[in-house]
Amino acid sequence: MGSTIEVMPKIGDLAFTRESHHGSIMENAFAGALSFMRRRYTRDLTGVDVAVMGVPLDLTTSGRPGTRLGPRAIRAASSHIAWSQPWPWESDVFNDLAVVDYGDCLFDPGRPMDIPEAIRATAAEILAADTALLTLGGDHFITWPLLKAHAAKHGPLSIIQFDAHTDTWADEGERLDHGTMLWHAINEGLVVPARSAQVGIRTHNDDPMGVNIFNAISVHKQGPEAIAAQVRDIVGDNPVYVTFDIDCLDPSAAPGTGTPVIGGLSTWQAQEVLRGLAGLNVVGMDVVEVSPPYDHAEITALAGATIANDLLALHAAGKKARKGGAK
Ligand code: MN
Ligand code: MN
Repeated sequence: MGSTIEVMPKIGDLAFTRESHHGSIMENAFAGALSFMRRRYTRDLTGVDVAVMGVPLDLTTSGRPGTRLGPRAIRAASSHIAWSQPWPWESDVFNDLAVVDYGDCLFDPGRPMDIPEAIRATAAEILAADTALLTLGGDHFITWPLLKAHAAKHGPLSIIQFDAHTDTWADEGERLDHGTMLWHAINEGLVVPARSAQVGIRTHNDDPMGVNIFNAISVHKQGPEAIAAQVRDIVGDNPVYVTFDIDCLDPSAAPGTGTPVIGGLSTWQAQEVLRGLAGLNVVGMDVVEVSPPYDHAEITALAGATIANDLLALHAAGKKARKGGAK
């Protein structure tokens, strides 16, 4: 029969008091120490499947700043959805996976050129413990050093990028810019463009570098299921990194972001594409570009938290498919 929700939480501050990395426990959404999805806040990765890390950076954004406050806002918004398994996934991601909140990546904003290496090194440390990483940004620049760490472990990656922008614009090689992160990653051989896909694009770029593009109009016209099926064919069995720039969503669903573009995906369309990717070998994930100062009613942070949770479920589905021998 139906499951019972505790009316009164038995314990507070689950970020510090929970004993198991598994399961969901009710805690008042408006109270308590914050962590992503009320997971334990720890850097002990013993027996941990996925670590959630914040990278509070907005120094490389080309438009409005504020994404340095993204991880904190996503953690806060996640308290509203932490009482239950993500709907409508078939199983509880926190039964399938041991997940912790690793806290934020530490760096000195006064030494910006040292930041990429700080992000890469922290990610590499986590991956070395055989723990997967879900990162909360931060502007989209962070995905480049994250891809470095992931490609060092898994080899050249497919990427599935949800975004209004391709982020394959060129620079002279030294700049830190959230619009050139994939240009760097492809040039360094971290990402295989022919086996990668971008979803939701609606800005012009003369050179998409061979990445398969499913622009926003194609999602609206073909529907999310058809898009997901094509993306699955492109990625195949390759290890894939999924990066979700929140500006993939229409500004009506995610106003709190630095470079909004109208005509974007609704939250259900994005979620439906993600669910359609279940079974892929998702080895790394991030949600970036949530900028709380431009948000209204916390809807962008809530979208970021929910999508991040969906990415955990997607990672779990991929692990299950591999255990069961399915491809
Ligand atoms: Mn982006
Ligand atoms: Mn973007």
